[in-house]
Amino acid sequence: MSGKENQQADSRPADQAADRSESTRAESQPLSDLVPLAQGQPPAIDPALLSACIHCGICLPACPTYLATGRETESPRGRIYLMNLWQQGDQELSPRLAEHLESCLGCFGCQTACPSGVQYEKILNQARPQLAEIRPPGLRRLMRFAFAQILPDYRRLQMLGKLLRVWQSAGGEKLFSALPWLGKTGATLIGSLRSWQSFLPPVPEHVPLPRQSWLTGKKRGQVQLFSGCVMDILYNQVNHACLRLLTAQRNIVQVPDQTCCGALAFHAGETDIACELAKRNIELFQSQSGQIVATAAGCGAMLKSYGELLEKDAVWSQRAREFAARVVDLTEILSQGQFSQRPRPLAIKVAYHAACHLIHAQRIREAPAELLSRLEGISIIPLVEGEHCCGSAGIFNLTHTELSLKVLERKMEKIKESGADTVVTTNPGCMLQLEAGARAAGLKLRVLHLAEILDQAYCQPQADSD
Ligand code: SF4
Ligand code: SF4
Repeated sequence: MSGKENQQADSRPADQAADRSESTRAESQPLSDLVPLAQGQPPAIDPALLSACIHCGICLPACPTYLATGRETESPRGRIYLMNLWQQGDQELSPRLAEHLESCLGCFGCQTACPSGVQYEKILNQARPQLAEIRPPGLRRLMRFAFAQILPDYRRLQMLGKLLRVWQSAGGEKLFSALPWLGKTGATLIGSLRSWQSFLPPVPEHVPLPRQSWLTGKKRGQVQLFSGCVMDILYNQVNHACLRLLTAQRNIVQVPDQTCCGALAFHAGETDIACELAKRNIELFQSQSGQIVATAAGCGAMLKSYGELLEKDAVWSQRAREFAARVVDLTEILSQGQFSQRPRPLAIKVAYHAACHLIHAQRIREAPAELLSRLEGISIIPLVEGEHCCGSAGIFNLTHTELSLKVLERKMEKIKESGADTVVTTNPGCMLQLEAGARAAGLKLRVLHLAEILDQAYCQPQADSD
């Protein structure tokens, strides 16, 4: 696809993106008024969901935290057992019990593996708000601030991205080793910051997405791109690749005002913030028609769940269901369409790491494989435990860094054994985790979003694949 051919209605993308940030920022103000749920609510997990587990243990080999620790309390069966005790009043929700539940990645590999149909996702979703209640108040305030005031605000996010870029280019990480005078507490803090920093990829220059793009000639339809917050800041180039691919399949692609999908808030049990963000997105997308294409598996899973999230809200439930029905993952829509040109051959050995929120939450297995199989020149290498979580799991790598790294270590071993030179996936969290794993293991490995490979093959005929 040539630059000339790709027409864009937006001649001032940067200005309009700034407008978008402004409108999103203005919308986000009332989130500061939200208050956490009241303390001391009784357990609210549906007993029928818990009793569906027959304790067979078939899910254990599918559970990354069980494989990493070897502990029953860090397995799906063990966690369900503990939740049963708590639900029945035989155990209070102590910090220790909560930690066994909080150390769950929420990957739902167990749900896919369970032959009895245990709905672990529903169980965990019902437990999460109560786990949030017993979080240390300072930490909870900080997390709520990030979910309500940073992630939904694209202007602040872009500012944060700029600061991180300056920090990285100035070699800021070396500062950590120059601060031994901070004492023991300081050393712990610096240690955590250093670990967290190891997950951060090089932050790219942010190039705003045009508001509307299309190719000349016949059109397939109109779609809206959901760019995501983490994806757009840390992997901005992926969103641009997604946009090129969608236009190459003859779609008119719009990028409306939007805000954070609410996934991180929801997974942390801060349901009120997630509901508020869902309502905003529903409003922001209501004036357009067409499918809403998520470029991040985590965002897509959350957007598709808005119907359930707001099902008890008489005012919003219908609109939430209609919104959710419009959401598709990028791989779904691309696999249903065709590119007009043959793919450029790429001489690479590719392993596919299935993002949990694509494979287990959205149950999308064939579409990525089908898209990869259309490419020419590539060797697709089967990845052992390719459907196991990499340990990223939203902010799990920040809240449970040690366990996250253990889970990652196993994933990197499997990737190394595969002999692949490139790993593709579909979620920004997986990408930054796998990149960190490759850096730590000294592996010469490219970690790419599936869209980047497809973009190389279909949209950048002159580019070098290396
Ligand atoms: S969750 Fe399913 S697979 Fe795991 S122990 Fe229970 S019934 Fe067995
Ligand atoms: S969601 Fe993932 S980490 Fe949690 S119990 Fe299930 S398989 Fe284990």
